[in-house]
Amino acid sequence: MLECIVTKFGGSSLASDEQFRKVRSILELEPTRRYLVPSAPGKRFPNDEKVTDLLYKCHSLASEGKSFKEEFAKIRDRYLDIARGLHLKVDIESRLQEVEDGIASGKNADWCASRGEYLCALLMADYLGWRFLDAADGIVFNDDGQLNDDKTQEKLSALLADGKSTVVPGFYGAKENGEVHTFSRGGSDITGALVARAANADVYENWTDVSGFLMADPRIIENPAEISSITYKELRELSHMGASVLHEDAMFPVHRAGIPTNIRNTNKPYHPGTMISKNAPHEVSVPTITGIAGHKGYSVISVEKNMMNSEVGFGRKVLSVLEDAGVSFEHMPTGIDSMCVVVNSVSLAPHREEILAKIEELVDGSGSVSVNDNMSIIATVGRGMVHNCGTAARLFSAMSRARINVRMIDQGSSELSIIVGVNDSDFEATIHAIYHEFVE
Ligand code: ASP
Repeated sequence: MLECIVTKFGGSSLASDEQFRKVRSILELEPTRRYLVPSAPGKRFPNDEKVTDLLYKCHSLASEGKSFKEEFAKIRDRYLDIARGLHLKVDIESRLQEVEDGIASGKNADWCASRGEYLCALLMADYLGWRFLDAADGIVFNDDGQLNDDKTQEKLSALLADGKSTVVPGFYGAKENGEVHTFSRGGSDITGALVARAANADVYENWTDVSGFLMADPRIIENPAEISSITYKELRELSHMGASVLHEDAMFPVHRAGIPTNIRNTNKPYHPGTMISKNAPHEVSVPTITGIAGHKGYSVISVEKNMMNSEVGFGRKVLSVLEDAGVSFEHMPTGIDSMCVVVNSVSLAPHREEILAKIEELVDGSGSVSVNDNMSIIATVGRGMVHNCGTAARLFSAMSRARINVRMIDQGSSELSIIVGVNDSDFEATIHAIYHEFVE
């Protein structure tokens, strides 16, 4: 049996008293689920409002000197409904009053937004009869707003060392001067990962409203297959290309500590979900591909220069032009006397002229510089590729049968992914062609 599981529940899992009940029965199924990190209550139905959004609204109304009473009443009702529905004893009305007073007195946006998780954790701790630990006491940020990883680990592990069942609100912590600071949106996932590492958990369970990751975007592929097992490295490649269920920064603490993350569905508690681990141990057979993800809207800067290959430092100079403009690049396929730099079109736009002029200067009349827009990048990711011959051949044949023109190819040295660039208009067709080649 597992010794210690840290659970994180997302906003939709905590949206009402009915959802709170589901959470408790999930915890009762497995007594080693001893730590819980909640988000703030999310949407109960499609047009509902998330508590965090309402709190940000209250803060901005207050800072414009406008009344935020109406918006705050919605927040109050959400918490009172849950407290009443579960017959809780905690004095949530006084806590809500403190939050309202804090917003009125000009507390900053981070403090206001963080109260969503704070209040939710107070309710949950009361409902479960567990200890409440304020995240401001265990999650430490530097003055510049960056997480202080070492201090967080030191403080949090000391606070949790007694092994008592504990609720720690997600999304925020505090700077050393006590000022509350939040992660970026969706950051309760990061809190969960930090608590899992501090508690030395065997598994970090991230409970949400989907049964894990899908092999492709369901808006493009109807009913895509579920991914039961994936490595952190594969997931990083897929989430970079837009597949998102988990906050990107939530992977690092647990990955480094060797703790697997299990994505689970609060509404289907017996579904095993997706297990993310360092190297997917105990696998009998590995599928050739794990998932496909992609994005439209890239630009390719193509640079040609006579004898480029013999000019030491030319590539570095081209990349410095991008660096000076603060534009990061995605890929850089090269030829003998040519190189292409693939960048996101939105980040290129404000610096386009300046970047092109500077690269023209480097080429110095003995070549050419051009930009092609409207390119999509699609990553086909799979740890199984390394063991299988002919994966690239199958992928490109499938694309050629679908009459898709490949504009760029890139394969990382890890052999974990094959990346293709196609016209934006071929984006969906490419994903279809690759998916059906490997999955059905
Ligand atoms: N409640 C915050 C948000 O909506 C953080 C989270 O849910 O993870 O972004």
